[in-house]
Amino acid sequence: MYQLRKKPTQVCPCGYFNHPEKECSCSPVMVQRYLNKISGPLLDLIDLHVEVTPVPFSELSSARMSENSTDVRDRVIRAREIQTKRFEGHAGVYANAQMGSKLLKDICVINTIGQTLLKTAMDRLNLSARAYDRILKVSRTIADLAASEDIKPEHLAEAIQYRSLDREGWGG
Ligand SMILES: [Zn+2]
Repeated sequence: MYQLRKKPTQVCPCGYFNHPEKECSCSPVMVQRYLNKISGPLLDLIDLHVEVTPVPFSELSSARMSENSTDVRDRVIRAREIQTKRFEGHAGVYANAQMGSKLLKDICVINTIGQTLLKTAMDRLNLSARAYDRILKVSRTIADLAASEDIKPEHLAEAIQYRSLDREGWGG
């Protein structure tokens, strides 16, 4: 899994694009030009695109009902076990991200609803063949984390969402 940036995201020259409180002073053209610096082929190499906006301190410190990290950890370990088992006998492959095209075709089988969903996303978001493969692999991982044998449309939908940087006018 690749990380786009270690520091908080800056997607425009002034740095306030999509900030919850502060106003961005850049024109749409400036934002687009800034985003275009990240090239498509580079974005294709990144599994997950997630836009992160600043969170106020009060929200960070308030007790919120969410899955605790121990549970998340267990879920990740289980998903890893599923993948280890899946790739038994495939030398050098131990995680979904490492699947070649042949394995991908055998393992990432999606139903008709899923196929329609993915085709629509490909057309609307103008996705590359590489992005298509990434979506399938990430959706398989999301399904593994949910302990689901099949890749369901909701898993695909979540994976498509992680291609947000492929979208025109990112963040809009
Ligand atoms: Zn700005």
